[in-house]
Amino acid sequence: MKLYYSRLQIELTRRCNQKCADCCRGDEQKVDISKEIIDAFFEKNDIYHIGVLLFSGGEPTLNGKMLEYFVDKIIEKDIDVDMFILSINGLSYSEEFVSGLNKLRDYIILKSGRERLYPGRLMVTQDQFHKDADKEVIEKLKHLSYFSPVEKHEMEEENILPYGRAYENGLSKQEPDLSKLTDYQKNYKVKEYEGSTYLVIEYQYISANGNVVNDGCQSYDLMDEYALGNVQKQCIEEIYIKGSEIDKRLKYI
Ligand code: SF4
Repeated sequence: MKLYYSRLQIELTRRCNQKCADCCRGDEQKVDISKEIIDAFFEKNDIYHIGVLLFSGGEPTLNGKMLEYFVDKIIEKDIDVDMFILSINGLSYSEEFVSGLNKLRDYIILKSGRERLYPGRLMVTQDQFHKDADKEVIEKLKHLSYFSPVEKHEMEEENILPYGRAYENGLSKQEPDLSKLTDYQKNYKVKEYEGSTYLVIEYQYISANGNVVNDGCQSYDLMDEYALGNVQKQCIEEIYIKGSEIDKRLKYI
């Protein structure tokens, strides 16, 4: 079965060079996505299309090497990608990170056969909880066609997610919602098209440790606790169609 993603998010690392009070992830972990995890994901699955490819962390620039490796795999497998989006904190620069994004931009444009208006977008998060971005880093990034101008904004209380450090610090007015992690069955469909069968997934998050998660706006601890499976153990079809780890565990709660 071919995989058709509307949105796929890849957590490059759980390391970070900041400690924002509103971070929904919680404390950083010394975990980076590895070649073995990326290889398993591409070898076990027949990925046909990715609408929006999101990279996240932690701080994504701290594992630029694996961003480039992931992009090389996309190109090698000739996978359709519409666009990429990611945010960084602007404190660190990585040659491999920029090289990977440039390759992805060029590949998207080449494959679509026309100069796309938005092959991707790289943003720098700047609000009252983040340190000011490093001027030298911004200087190196600002010429990139997909780089968005840095704008400082006020993070509104109602937009702070109720997980991780934000939850511990009582900064969010929202209540944690675990159904976003467990209700994965609402997130996919099996469709037939021109003689092929597609597993169409609205959204999926792959953690730096290979866990497959239904919602990426959560703490590392909750994402691990409510993981649907792991790309090194199963293919995505097996997780969704044959029943995820979470189904098996929820039976006993
Ligand atoms: S919000 Fe982002 S930059 Fe801040 S600690 Fe969390 S992962 Fe790091």
